[in-house]
Amino acid sequence: MNALPTKLRFAPSPTGLMHLGNTRTALFSALYAQAMQGIFMLRVEDTDRQRSTAEFTEQLQQDLHWLGLDWQEGPGQDLGHGPYFQSERLAIYQSYYQTLADKGFTYPCFCPEEMLTLARKVQLAAGQPPRYAGTCKSLTAAEIEARLANGEKPAIRFAVPKRETIQFYDIVKGPQSFQSDDIGDFIICRNDGTPPFMYCNAIDDALMGVTHVMRGEDHLTNTPRQIMILNALDLRVPEYGHFALIVGKDGSKLSKRHGSRSILDLRQDGFLPLAIINYLARLGHAYEDLGYADFETLAAHFSVSRLSKSPAKFDPEQLHYWQKEAVSRLSDDAFWQWSGISVHSIVPAESARAFVDAVRANCTSPSDVLQWANSCFDERLDFTAEQSELIQAAGKVFFQTAEQLVANVGTDYASLCKQLTERLGVKGKLLFQPLRLALTQALHGPEMQKLVPLMGSELVAKRFHDAAHLCH
Ligand code: GLU
Repeated sequence: MNALPTKLRFAPSPTGLMHLGNTRTALFSALYAQAMQGIFMLRVEDTDRQRSTAEFTEQLQQDLHWLGLDWQEGPGQDLGHGPYFQSERLAIYQSYYQTLADKGFTYPCFCPEEMLTLARKVQLAAGQPPRYAGTCKSLTAAEIEARLANGEKPAIRFAVPKRETIQFYDIVKGPQSFQSDDIGDFIICRNDGTPPFMYCNAIDDALMGVTHVMRGEDHLTNTPRQIMILNALDLRVPEYGHFALIVGKDGSKLSKRHGSRSILDLRQDGFLPLAIINYLARLGHAYEDLGYADFETLAAHFSVSRLSKSPAKFDPEQLHYWQKEAVSRLSDDAFWQWSGISVHSIVPAESARAFVDAVRANCTSPSDVLQWANSCFDERLDFTAEQSELIQAAGKVFFQTAEQLVANVGTDYASLCKQLTERLGVKGKLLFQPLRLALTQALHGPEMQKLVPLMGSELVAKRFHDAAHLCH
């Protein structure tokens, strides 16, 4: 009988910034926990003191909060299983070394690193999986004592039992089976006394009551080792689920080259949390007939049976699609805040409301908003050579006439167009394109009827004057 509440955890190592890959791991775990009305826990795996930093630790917590992936248990939320930083749990890991030794599951290994590296190379070259040969397993108690007395610092290896099959049911991939003879005796304590991730991670999952471990497929080969450790300690083995990793469009490991950036970068570029969440929730998990949704709705429709067994391809265009959805749902005030201080310094306060109304449908990032702010309020537009050619094609008279007309029609764009057609006989694309370009420096964009009043007749006249000037 399983009396434990469903508990999933996100267990990042704070050795870098959060990115789409580990954010998706956190998200799937959080969605599953919510779907099961269970607990989503955060545990910081910071035993690697060289590579873990306080900045990354702080940033990952901020990123999770910003994404709306709040943990119900973890740092600042102790439900009785803390501390939740592994660097504060070293005594616990230590005590289990003793238990394992007492039960005869481990032995000290004095093999120097160079020797192990060489052995690995030889095995790989011979087409064999690299596996520890068991050299130190046969050391006698006297030999061990002598080497310890000599000041040698051993690592501790877990003695993998012979001819055993380690089986488990992976909740994503189905039944899994590993032969113990394929797994060499592995290190659970390095010779500098530090525990490798695999060991602490398994022990903490058991001690903290984690019922389901959801993680990337790159951890699949750790699982039989972790199950052996837990069985040796009579600790509870959680259920495991390993989902396929995210790859770039070319099928290779996701990297910056594929446009994948840190959450902090995306945030600084104006991506909205629910855009990232909606995108990642569908990256390797199928949601049928579900549009843009909040976390609770995504959780209500989440199912491990819908997790894909093949790698998910990162597609920046999809991310942009969800960003557009997210931006379209911002209130006008939120949109204004999101557009940032550069925009605020350009757009006069009294025009803010009308400006937002005019441009919001054309913006998916604060830099888009900035572009329209410049179009509407910058004194001068700097045209590219290509844009200048298009302006020149309309001709000097076109813009001179437009400039004159502004004196009569002001910022009434419809009247301006109508009168230009009457005077010069131009219409359609030949009318609208050069006007839009001269006024906004773009060929497409928000409705001109809304932009022109924002510019004011003086600036509109100046824009036409400048365009006429560009023509020979
Ligand atoms: N600290 C490990 C990592 O960041 C955790 C792996 C796991 O989820 O079990 O890769």
